[in-house]
Amino acid sequence: MTTMESLIGLVNRIQRACTVLGDYGGGDGAFSSLWEALPSVAVVGGQSSGKSSVLESIVGRDFLPRGSGIVTRRPLVLQLHKTEEGAPEYAEFLHLPKRRFTDFSAVRKEIQDETDRVTGKTKQISPIPIHLSIYSPNVVNLTLIDLPGLTKVAVEGQPESIVQDIETMVRSYVEKPNCIILAITPANQDIATSDAIKLAREVDPTGDRTFGVLTKLDLMDRGTNALDVLEGRAYRLVHPWVGIVNRSQADINRNVDMIVARRKEREYFATSTDYGHLASKMGSEYLAKLLSKHLESVIRARIPSITSLINKSIDELESELDHLGRPIAVDAGAQLYMILELCRAFDKIFKEHLDGGRPGGDRIYGVFDNQLPAALRKLPFDRHLSVQNVRKVVSEADGYQPHLIAPEQGYRRLIEGSLNYFRGPSEASVDAVHFVLKELVRKSIAETQYTFMA
Ligand code: GDP
Ligand code: MG
Repeated sequence: MTTMESLIGLVNRIQRACTVLGDYGGGDGAFSSLWEALPSVAVVGGQSSGKSSVLESIVGRDFLPRGSGIVTRRPLVLQLHKTEEGAPEYAEFLHLPKRRFTDFSAVRKEIQDETDRVTGKTKQISPIPIHLSIYSPNVVNLTLIDLPGLTKVAVEGQPESIVQDIETMVRSYVEKPNCIILAITPANQDIATSDAIKLAREVDPTGDRTFGVLTKLDLMDRGTNALDVLEGRAYRLVHPWVGIVNRSQADINRNVDMIVARRKEREYFATSTDYGHLASKMGSEYLAKLLSKHLESVIRARIPSITSLINKSIDELESELDHLGRPIAVDAGAQLYMILELCRAFDKIFKEHLDGGRPGGDRIYGVFDNQLPAALRKLPFDRHLSVQNVRKVVSEADGYQPHLIAPEQGYRRLIEGSLNYFRGPSEASVDAVHFVLKELVRKSIAETQYTFMA
């Protein structure tokens, strides 16, 4: 795999991540800036101009819902991943992870069903895209966006606003400066009336990101050709026009397969008297290569800004995460384990503070070794137990009844008084130890958190 191929693969993955985060460009969500920084290719054109056919032939598979009227009612973000030669070909939807589709008609059905799931079976449209990845050896790495066809009038069952709604949605994709526009115009229609070119010119006046694709070359009136357009005389684009011959409705009805269709297209240009000299620069295969090459150069130019955008987002998310706290386990068992681990770590740290290894425990010793004895030494026992005071207390205690053996009441008063003196310093010591312990608990909690985050 070359560097460029892996790069496109990376961009594809980032775009998938954007959709998971609810960022699908069109809206004004908080993350839409990331999506907008990435290049993509959008297919734009009037209804039945051949958009689905062009997409299918770039992919080399029949898988898109087709039909007359408005079929594509949600944007389809199509990521093509080139796999190794001989590897099996399959498709995967983002909304159905792990389910591999190998039957491409089932892919078509799923696109229809998923469209209906959001819009209902009405002819409403929705800007929420369907994400589809195709893995195949027969494609180049590309991200394509299929959009509903531009239309001029609302038909039966559609709201009047549909013409404007579709244009608004298509515009929201193609006006992004990073969107490469594949403007599909049928050759059997006057280029001046091309909806695709009209819209492309509006959103991309310089034409740097517009690729003109002319379909239905085989359906032109006999005696006329599209050389004026293809050679850039009728409407000049920065990138040369690419002519395409898709399968006709009759081919589709007869189930002409893609490989045969591509061969027929090659033959058409090779043998054409009008376009023979342009043969190497025509056809769907050439278009796919052209797009891939252009996408590479765009990505190359954008890498620095994408990198800085991602880094900025990472920084922002990191600081938010720091603010919220680190993630904790989801299920009850893991949460319990986490809590027990925290308790164990706290226990160990707290113990170290008390027993040694970490500072703090010595302050408790200090309370008993210094503070308490010093306070006790200051107690006024000399005065309390002086002969004078003892006599006073003893005589006051017994009143007018002289004591026979010992002055018991007096002794009791003296002892109670002494014990009362102890109360103050003892309570002060308890308070001091309590204060030290509280501080150690707070410190241990902080240190437990720190060891868990580290
Ligand atoms: P979309 O509405 O833009 O997606 O157009 P489709 O891809 O569904 O094509 C509409 C019809 O035009 C289908 O019947 C196609 O078979 C037919 N068609 C598209 N491109 C060509 C072409 O290059 N040549 C011929 N003969 N028919 C084409
Ligand atoms: Mg279509």
